[in-house]
Amino acid sequence: MKKTIQNIEIEVSKGDIANQPDFEAVVNAANAKLAIGGGVAGAIHRAAGPELYEACKPLAPIAPGEAVITGAYNLPNDYVIHCLGPVYGRDKPEDKLLENCYKNALKRAEEKEVKSVAFPAISTGAFGYPIKEATKISFNTILAEIPKIKHLQKLKFVLFSEADLEIYKAMLSEV
Ligand code: ADP
Repeated sequence: MKKTIQNIEIEVSKGDIANQPDFEAVVNAANAKLAIGGGVAGAIHRAAGPELYEACKPLAPIAPGEAVITGAYNLPNDYVIHCLGPVYGRDKPEDKLLENCYKNALKRAEEKEVKSVAFPAISTGAFGYPIKEATKISFNTILAEIPKIKHLQKLKFVLFSEADLEIYKAMLSEV
């Protein structure tokens, strides 16, 4: 499902964040050490190859809400934007920290004049953020940032399950 909002195409679809060949940048739901890990980080590092972790090492550690950018190595993209989401119930205020993730990811993308970026549902896996609340934050933050965007033309939310996709679709249809 797709919708164009102020010249930016926003898409929600089910898929694997490590297999997004039509996007210049993909976002990693990273850990503080920018290490390989599980979930999104595992999929991205496995597909990118060991050079990605080498590129990450000097940029680590990052704090919740921060984002850093590297090359994408064997991934079919030019850049990986690594965001550390808040651990739900531990990193406070979690809503503000999650908002910062999306804001900072867009900032890193704009700095490199990225035209297309794909996001996973940051913090909603191992970090335990309830998907509906996280979805609202991701949409509201991106919509609020759109007026500042100069380069980005296309943004996709890549969801891993049908249930998560339905929540994102409902949110996009309300926009
Ligand atoms: P976090 O630690 O930020 O919670 P996770 O990687 O554990 O990050 O999960 C974030 C979200 O990404 C979850 O909704 C999870 O189901 C989903 N996910 C896991 N693997 C992939 C993948 N390969 N592509 C897209 N989404 C994924």
